[in-house]
Amino acid sequence: MVDDTPRKAAVIVNGFDPDSESFKPRRHEVDATGFTTVLDALINIKETMDNALSVRYSCRMGICGSCAMVINGKPMLACETKVLDELGKKGEVAVEPMRGHPILRGLVTDFDDFFAKHRSLEPWLIRSDMDEKFSTDNAFALTDAERDAFIPFAECIKCGLCVDACPVANTNKKFKGPQALAQAYRYFADARDQGGAHRLEIADTLEGAWGCEFAGACSKVCPKGVDPAFAIQLLKSSIAMHGMGLDRKKKPTAER
Ligand code: SF4
Repeated sequence: MVDDTPRKAAVIVNGFDPDSESFKPRRHEVDATGFTTVLDALINIKETMDNALSVRYSCRMGICGSCAMVINGKPMLACETKVLDELGKKGEVAVEPMRGHPILRGLVTDFDDFFAKHRSLEPWLIRSDMDEKFSTDNAFALTDAERDAFIPFAECIKCGLCVDACPVANTNKKFKGPQALAQAYRYFADARDQGGAHRLEIADTLEGAWGCEFAGACSKVCPKGVDPAFAIQLLKSSIAMHGMGLDRKKKPTAER
């Protein structure tokens, strides 16, 4: 049972100050019960103690991915993390912005590059017809097996935590990153999609699938169980099985 007795807890907010281009840690005391999330505590701090605190959030229930940040050194969603679960021996929890994305202010990071990389892998169904849009006869109804082939990877909420955790993305800013590459496989594996060989070609680069060194950190931090590391390995094997793999002289052998 969750303990709803309030306890004192300290939240150390190591926010970024763009004017001085430095981090300015601030310590705030909050009352926390077993229900209080880190996001609840940050909203309380902003409303009652430090209205200059910059923090991004929306749904508060692990769906929008907006409140991704680093909590006690781990990339996590603030809305899914309980303050009391994270208190160290000193009764403190430390929060800071993700360092794997450009930092704008406070705890807020810039996602322009993240979404540009996502878009570059064409995360939409490629079709030569528009039947699904205009037909009412379930033209693209999926079997259970067809659905299971991509649904686990379709759970991505675009929080960016996997990119923050990825050692390659943090050292090579050209790398497309685990989120974008997992979504490339998500659409490749979708039986309704006709982009097959084209999708593999755009992922078949050193900045794409072959940049992944299979550290697996992305899958450990993903709050939705997407397992981007596994998706990228499936993408690599799909590229190889279609006679591609950084060798442009070879032509893809099949659509899927
Ligand atoms: S794959 Fe997981 S960690 Fe990465 S953006 Fe999607 S939900 Fe977030």
